[in-house]
Amino acid sequence: MNETPRFDAYRHAIPEPLMPPRDDPFDAAVPPIYQTSLFLFDSYKELEDVFAGRSKKPIYSRGDNPTVRLLERKIAEMEGAEEARAFSSGMGAIAAAVLAFVGPGDRIVTVRHVYSDAFRFFEKVLKRFGVVVDYIDGTDTQAMLAALPGAKLAYLENPTSMVFELQDLTAIAEAARRHGVVTMVDNSWATPLFQKPLSVGIDIVIHAASKYLGGQSDTVAGLVTGSKAHIDRINSEIYPYTGAKLAPFEAWLVLRNLETLPFRMRHHHEAGLEVASWLQAHEDVTNVMHPALGEHPGKRTFSGFGGLFSFEVSDRIDVADFVDALGLIRIGVSWGGPESLVVPAKAALSISPETNVFARFGVTDRTIRLNVGLHSAKEVIADIEQALAAAKR
Ligand SMILES: *Cc1c(COP(=O)(O)O)cnc(C)c1O
Repeated sequence: MNETPRFDAYRHAIPEPLMPPRDDPFDAAVPPIYQTSLFLFDSYKELEDVFAGRSKKPIYSRGDNPTVRLLERKIAEMEGAEEARAFSSGMGAIAAAVLAFVGPGDRIVTVRHVYSDAFRFFEKVLKRFGVVVDYIDGTDTQAMLAALPGAKLAYLENPTSMVFELQDLTAIAEAARRHGVVTMVDNSWATPLFQKPLSVGIDIVIHAASKYLGGQSDTVAGLVTGSKAHIDRINSEIYPYTGAKLAPFEAWLVLRNLETLPFRMRHHHEAGLEVASWLQAHEDVTNVMHPALGEHPGKRTFSGFGGLFSFEVSDRIDVADFVDALGLIRIGVSWGGPESLVVPAKAALSISPETNVFARFGVTDRTIRLNVGLHSAKEVIADIEQALAAAKR
């Protein structure tokens, strides 16, 4: 990445009904928080016109809220999408997007090591309604393409969780179109600054805005973007009825933290790569799972890389001792905020394989997931170095 991605161009460029007025009486630099559940009408006629879709105005905040709408317009613009919908969590977004497109007897093609709660949603919820789910090694493009004919939905995550395996989105999107399969990509890791799946023919992009887009570990939020037709379908089939709407204050937090996204992502990209290459050279690290390392056609959709990746330690290292010896780096499951964090896969592997995607698809107990937060690479490396030395048997 040789250029800092520009972001300020998106500011104030949202000409749409339901937007906060451009002529704010106080010329506020920051959008107002519309902390209201309902919106009032001046007359019977105005109410009827809005109900009938003849004029546009928010009615009730489970449907539309101007602060939330501003976030939806921004993410749509960043992904190059026509439309977007915000949800109260990444899982709210995933569940609604998937439920809008599948029904009993339909088959979903997904990747092994899909986000752990997306896996549980497929296994615990969708299976009860007769949906079939195939878990494929997404790095194997031929296997992915062979699984597509007859499927309803291809649910992708580039890269996957915990082991960061790539998929060739371009090839999969092209084949899926030919077979009439709807494609979705969880793009939380790359953010629209580093990967724009819609530009290579993917239909729908999903974000856990709780991670990089929120960026401060202070919000849980989700976003779905795509064509107007696809988002309209989510709106008409699911969105108002499952009620997973984003609160105006939380939308405002994400909007606020989007302003620093290019600067944060540049740091995560650079510091992540520096830590990853240091780890590769360490005698007690046997594998580094960072999408920038190694060759795969799936790399070509990225213009930069996130700072979340995994590595495996040798059997000379006691995993629990290593984690406990870390100082600056804390133990915690989320990612994308200022904190540098680890999750040892070993702790998760104690959960039964029926509900544990990582146990089912062979993640080793020597795998450590690392989130390089807003610390310098030097600080993160120094902490890992001393903890590896302390945990050596
Ligand atoms: C965290 C996460 C999600 C779920 O987001 P929530 O906001 O926690 O519901 C989905 N996908 C990925 C890749 C994640 O890391």
